[in-house]
Amino acid sequence: MSPPRDVAVAVVGGGIVGLCAALELARDGAEVLVLDDAARLGGTTANAGSLHVQMQSRFIRMYPEQVAGLERSLPFYVAAARRWADLERELGTSFELKASGGLMVAETPESYEFLARKCERERQLGLTVEMLGRTELARIAPYLGEAVIGAEFCAEEGKLNPLLANQAVRRALLAAGGALLPEARVERIEQDGGAWRLHGGFDAIRAGRVLLAAGAGTGALLAPLGLHVPTVAEPLHMNVTEAAAPLIHHLVQHAERMITLKQLSAGQVVIGGGWPARLDGPQRHPTVEASSLLGNLRLASHIVPRLARLRLIRSWAGVNTTVDGQCVLGAAPGLPGLFLAVPGDAGYTLGPLVGGLAADALQGRRDLAFDISPFSAARFGRAPVSA
Ligand SMILES: Cc1cc2nc3c(=O)[nH]c(=O)nc-3n(C[C@H](O)[C@H](O)[C@H](O)COP(=O)(O)OP(=O)(O)OC[C@H]3O[C@@H](n4cnc5c(N)ncnc54)[C@H](O)[C@@H]3O)c2cc1C
Repeated sequence: MSPPRDVAVAVVGGGIVGLCAALELARDGAEVLVLDDAARLGGTTANAGSLHVQMQSRFIRMYPEQVAGLERSLPFYVAAARRWADLERELGTSFELKASGGLMVAETPESYEFLARKCERERQLGLTVEMLGRTELARIAPYLGEAVIGAEFCAEEGKLNPLLANQAVRRALLAAGGALLPEARVERIEQDGGAWRLHGGFDAIRAGRVLLAAGAGTGALLAPLGLHVPTVAEPLHMNVTEAAAPLIHHLVQHAERMITLKQLSAGQVVIGGGWPARLDGPQRHPTVEASSLLGNLRLASHIVPRLARLRLIRSWAGVNTTVDGQCVLGAAPGLPGLFLAVPGDAGYTLGPLVGGLAADALQGRRDLAFDISPFSAARFGRAPVSA
């Protein structure tokens, strides 16, 4: 058997979090190798490119016990959206990022009132938000249908093209000296003296430090090490239309129903919002459900009636990761040299910020822009060590 390949830092997971962490590490001069099981269609390759900041009123109603955590995370989302804009400037290449603001629309007086209370709370917490009635909406968003009676506008929200952003970050990582091992599924990691050994369908790798940024695959790698992180794979549906003349300038979402939509610079309208897909076959491949396709498009053309005239050009599914709504970030408790980076909800928005903070933690930097201790995996306790 050949001796293991030695690297200073191995990053497991080449989604937006792993790539951004690796980019920061490579820029620091660290020898870094990213291993990714490309077959899994993680959220990074599937996502819609919405930069979310305001709290989802639907989630507040569904999970009132999570509101304190959501409120605590708000500054994190503001910083994350800004971090994307900085990254676009730093990399000197366009991701078609537009900080054009986001509208959360209401169709009933009750829903509008709920948004108004949320808006007031978010303003107290430092967000740039305001309520817009039908008249103001008709002025800035004439594309919205008659059913919409008002909206909360959040100036910090925006959109980008994830296909461009992902490519740009990957190119920057390679240019900074980082390495990528594609189609490398890590089956198992184990302690090896003061280092870590990674096993899978590749020659064993020995890494001084390891960052687990494997999205929904993170929990399964940690369980044999006795650490419980309940990552769950959530397959979700997306649609995109043919290109149209400029119509929708904002990120649009609904106060009560599952819809987000936005128009890319090239004119296509990306429509999603959390409609379910399914995991099919032995590979658990994320697969489109016809009911989601129809339901999502019907709702989209209800909110923006002119969408009904456009043809759908593609639908796809990808795997989102859920934990408890918040990030899992920082040193793995009791496992020296192992670090974790799983973003909270709207994880693409959080990607570059969370990746950067994970790199900081791994490098032992202490003057972090945010206190990441509330995001420690210690909150989940330990898992029983498997035989
Ligand atoms: C359809 C859809 C739309 C979305 N839209 C938005 C949006 O508009 N805005 C937003 O903010 N968020 C959105 N999200 C959420 C967002 O995409 C994710 O939260 C984010 O991309 C997570 O990034 P990540 O790097 O943590 O994980 P991932 O992107 O899931 O990447 C993890 C990577 O790790 C790899 N991996 C897993 N296990 C292993 C293993 N054992 N060995 C090697 N590699 C492994 C996977 O193959 C994957 O490539 C959406 C998600 C989906 C599915």
